[in-house]
Amino acid sequence: MLPLKTESGPSGCLTIYSNRTDHFDHKECQLLERLAANLVFGLDSLRTHSVREQQAAEIHYLAYTDALTGLPNRRHLIHYLDDILSTPETRATEYAILFIDLDGFKPINDALGHEVGDEVLRQLAQRLQASVRDSDLVVRQGGDEFLVVISGAVRNGPQQDFVKIVDIAHRLANRIIAHLGEPLTVGGYTHHLNASVGITLIPEHGRDPTLLIENADKAMYEAKRQGGGQSYLFSKDIADSHQQRFSLETRLRQAMEQQQFELYYQPIFELSSCRIVAAEALIRWPQDDGEVLSPGTFMPLVEKIGLINPIGDWVLETAARQLRAWHNQGLELSMAVNLSINQLYPNGDAEHFAGLVKPYVDPSWIHLEVTENALMEDPAKTEALLKALNDQGFQLAIDDFGTGYSSLSRLQHLSLQSLKIDRSFVNELDRPDSKGEALVAIIHQMASSLNLHTIAEGIETEHQRQLLLDMSTGKAWGQGYWFSPPIPAHEFERLAKARARLSSRDEMVPF
Ligand code: C2E
Ligand code: MG
Ligand code: MG
Repeated sequence: MLPLKTESGPSGCLTIYSNRTDHFDHKECQLLERLAANLVFGLDSLRTHSVREQQAAEIHYLAYTDALTGLPNRRHLIHYLDDILSTPETRATEYAILFIDLDGFKPINDALGHEVGDEVLRQLAQRLQASVRDSDLVVRQGGDEFLVVISGAVRNGPQQDFVKIVDIAHRLANRIIAHLGEPLTVGGYTHHLNASVGITLIPEHGRDPTLLIENADKAMYEAKRQGGGQSYLFSKDIADSHQQRFSLETRLRQAMEQQQFELYYQPIFELSSCRIVAAEALIRWPQDDGEVLSPGTFMPLVEKIGLINPIGDWVLETAARQLRAWHNQGLELSMAVNLSINQLYPNGDAEHFAGLVKPYVDPSWIHLEVTENALMEDPAKTEALLKALNDQGFQLAIDDFGTGYSSLSRLQHLSLQSLKIDRSFVNELDRPDSKGEALVAIIHQMASSLNLHTIAEGIETEHQRQLLLDMSTGKAWGQGYWFSPPIPAHEFERLAKARARLSSRDEMVPF
């Protein structure tokens, strides 16, 4: 009997039987012992090999599978795409990538916790898998992003293939959107999720897996930008606009950090005397090549990427500091500062705004301008916030009045002091057969019944100023290119000082 001692301990014995006693001599016994040892060696290596194979399979599984959903992961996808792209036949389009992003997943995760979020993702992964053919690859890239790679199968020449795969991809995308959008009950709540899908074609939209995924992501972003719940096919135009947006975004963040923004000031004057009574602070972004960008070109993105609060704070503080300097020089002016809707909601804080201003001037010197639509956002909150701003001493104005959707019944409940007549009405004043005069007259009447004083925007001619003055019922102010465009602080200062030296009305001509 020969024990078999493998690495994992005794695992059996090799028994050789003879019907005669002492049948095996010493040498034969040695031979049999060696045989047993060889057997042990063979067994050990066999076992080690299969353990290694198993471990390798596990490592492969872990490396190429998403732990949460059990779907293949991004690494798997890259390999898969590499294979497709390295196949010589992948010349005519026959594959497409669908980049799927959920609209509305983050609030679930934030509000109900990660466990619920994880379960939602697991269930959606199953739905996604059920929406496609077995031959299609479904991948979870991370977060709430999934990708599907489909093949167009039939090849009838490049043009037909293209049409066919685009068609298949859009139809599948719509099916996926519909399927993912069905109500989903997890964590005691029923959720309604929407999905947006971006599509890229292989190899039309790239011969590199990372680029193809990126392009599908850009197309998805475009689908989202257009309201979500739809699919969008990648095109070069999206790539360009995405690139521009991305570089503008990076430059905006830098501009904020490096304080590249500047405030220009447009004089606000009394229509009757043409005396400068206030300045409106308007943000500008000077460029290296000398061009000065107006807010219309960059403020929408500032709002979108969440930079409006730091930039808005900077504007308010800088305008207040400038006003202090002018007060010190004897220029007793007020300062108008624009507040965007995103500075008011959801976290607008009157004390915070007052804190930015108070080190320099009393808030009563500051007129905060808010557009009509911002005032209509959330009636109860608006009322409370405006009241709090008033309590801090700020003056409040409705900007661009007449272009939004305010209702008179709401306006009378708000703490406001002035109303800025939008320049589109002022513009109309000169035009023959226009209703401009009638409209401005109505706005004036309304303002006086609400006890608000008016500031006309965009006065470009003496005739407009005169008409506005004739129509006004009380204190009337205005601003516009007729008097002066927005100008840098030092120019404003020069103008205001020159104006202050003039006293007779006859001398009041625009610069
Ligand atoms: P707004 O507050 O209604 O500012 C008046 C705009 O009309 C300014 O454009 C000004 O340059 C322009 N303007 C003034 N007089 C005339 C005129 O006679 N004719 C014409 N055609 N235009 C005139 P700007 O500076 O490009 O600002 C555009 C808008 O951007 C502002 O409209 C305001 O809503 C926003 N904005 C500007 N600065 C800031 C800021 O610091 N923060 C926020 N949140 N918004 C700002
Ligand atoms: Mg304004
Ligand atoms: Mg305005």
